Amino acid sequence: MRAIVKSKPEKGLWMEAVNVPQPGPDEVLIKVTKASICGTDKHIYDWDGWASKNIEPPLILGHEFVGIVSEIGSAVEGVSPGDRVSAEGHVVCSNCSNCRSSRYHLCPHTKGIGVNVPGAFSEFLCVPLCNVVSIPDGISDEMASLLDPLGNAVHAALSFEVSGQDVIVTGAGPIGIMAALVCQQLGARHVVLTEVNAYRIDLARKAGVRHVVDVRQSDLQTVMQNLSIKEGFGVGLEMSGNQDAVNTIINAGKNGCCLALLGISNNKLVLPWNDIVFKMIHLKGIYGREIFGTWKASMELLQNGLDIEGVITHRLPFEDFEYGFSLIESGTAGKIILEM
Ligand SMILES: [Zn+2]
Ligand SMILES: [Zn+2]
Repeated sequence: MRAIVKSKPEKGLWMEAVNVPQPGPDEVLIKVTKASICGTDKHIYDWDGWASKNIEPPLILGHEFVGIVSEIGSAVEGVSPGDRVSAEGHVVCSNCSNCRSSRYHLCPHTKGIGVNVPGAFSEFLCVPLCNVVSIPDGISDEMASLLDPLGNAVHAALSFEVSGQDVIVTGAGPIGIMAALVCQQLGARHVVLTEVNAYRIDLARKAGVRHVVDVRQSDLQTVMQNLSIKEGFGVGLEMSGNQDAVNTIINAGKNGCCLALLGISNNKLVLPWNDIVFKMIHLKGIYGREIFGTWKASMELLQNGLDIEGVITHRLPFEDFEYGFSLIESGTAGKIILEM
């Protein structure tokens, strides 16, 4: 079969012929139909500092996907060939104290599909049965291939009560845009999304985010006054990993506000410590999804009318992955879906 492989410890990815994996007793073999490109894949493509420390070539990339079950291991029950599925991208240990308290997303021994074990940019992949997620009717293949990044957005948005609250989201990458749309869907009073990149601002507006603020051109305080946000935002979702955005979100939060932090940075970020103390701010780090509550919530939001179609900007044949990565490099893409 063909697969997109990080075969050498240098910039680039290569399409290679590899063997179809054989499912072990507790594993499921999935024929991939669509996969989407994630920022993580771009780090691995670029072979940056994080990738060279964490990735061992050769590795098949990809963790955001949907496919059809093709074969099941001898001990597998509850999933059958022909089922339409996706999978949680973190394979956990089941033995640590967090796993044993059903807090699988906090497992310190987690292995990433397409990061530590073979991934989904491939005609077939094998995953443990416990990672498989069945996709209900009414959720399209495209939406199903986005459940992983949507799950990051939903995990952040569900971390605190947002209904009736004024919410600020900093950073209009695909996850930031989806998080803003989720907060709108959940009944936040106002959702304000801040960004500095013109392409992303346009993408966020077209995707349906009602208040997108270019903080280079507009004064956030004025925007807040116009929306009669008097004391500041009750909830903030930091999606950029940018120092200015971190300062903005802490500044614009009201006393006792709740902040979910998802954006990561290659630089050391400085937190305005005294502001956090005196404003009595609640901080929560967000990584991945809660396994599997976030998956259920994400699918229910989609079934209930959440529309994230606007974050998809390109659908490319599997073979054109190089073009996909060049679009991400140039900053002119939202989510890119590779079609197998
Ligand atoms: Zn991802
Ligand atoms: Zn564990």
